[in-house]
Amino acid sequence: MATHEQRRDFVDKVVLVTGAGSGIGREAALGFARRGALVYAVDVNERGLTETLSLGRELAGMLRTTRVDVSNEPQVGDLMARIESEAGRLDAAFNNAGITGGTHRIEDYPTEDFERVLSINLRSVFLGLKYELPLMLRNGGGAIVNTASVAALTGPGGMSAYAASKHGVHGLTRVAAMENAARGIRVNAIAPGWTETPMVVANSQQNPAFAELARKAIPAKRGAQPSEVADAAIWLCSDEASYLQGHMLVIDGGMTIGGFEL
Ligand code: NAD
Repeated sequence: MATHEQRRDFVDKVVLVTGAGSGIGREAALGFARRGALVYAVDVNERGLTETLSLGRELAGMLRTTRVDVSNEPQVGDLMARIESEAGRLDAAFNNAGITGGTHRIEDYPTEDFERVLSINLRSVFLGLKYELPLMLRNGGGAIVNTASVAALTGPGGMSAYAASKHGVHGLTRVAAMENAARGIRVNAIAPGWTETPMVVANSQQNPAFAELARKAIPAKRGAQPSEVADAAIWLCSDEASYLQGHMLVIDGGMTIGGFEL
């Protein structure tokens, strides 16, 4: 697995990471900070943020954590006002917080649950973009990455809300990229596959037979480590991805290639 602790290409940059209290967002917040960025690491789960801070002890001062519900417009607005007043700029944002929601056939899916998943996974990305773009524009540009999923490309049974939200993230990403490419802001998405975050690992321990089946179905025969997904998001925010606009980068060990192995 690639580590970039030696690279310092985000020095003097200010980065926002949502869902930074766990999994992919945590690895991304630590990764950006190790590469020199001042990182605003936000999550609804304060305990998770405290753990992220303790894992990044050596990065003292480069990680600023704060509790934000990314589906709540006043909270997102306040966060952006705080970043502007404290740091004066925003160079990159990783809109990553999300939930899976329950698993039910459409006819059984509770409508309130559907709306909650859409609110946390999709409304949050809309709100993120709405408040991040003006701040980035004020200092001449930046890069945004939104977390979609392989469920933005497929139709996983039982997961209508999740798949609809992630297809929506893909659409929002393309519109935001179209509207901002000429203004110096690149907007892209990532589509992770099976990623072994703490929740996925706990579920796998509870249901090892299902986990084994899932891993066998992935051409790489393993899930991703959260840092492998975070590295891709960091790369999309870096100058190395300077000509990528509106792209959704699939990081799935080949899960969505389709076809059959010989
Ligand atoms: P995770 O549960 O480890 O982390 C998600 C974080 O988002 C948690 O810390 C949670 O507290 C936070 N969060 C939830 N609701 C929030 C809210 N309203 N406001 C602020 N923070 C909130 O899971 P993860 O796998 O790291 O998920 C990160 C993203 O990756 C999600 O968007 C998820 O849909 C996506 N994803 C994950 C996988 C996977 O296999 N793990 C696959 C595809 C896509």
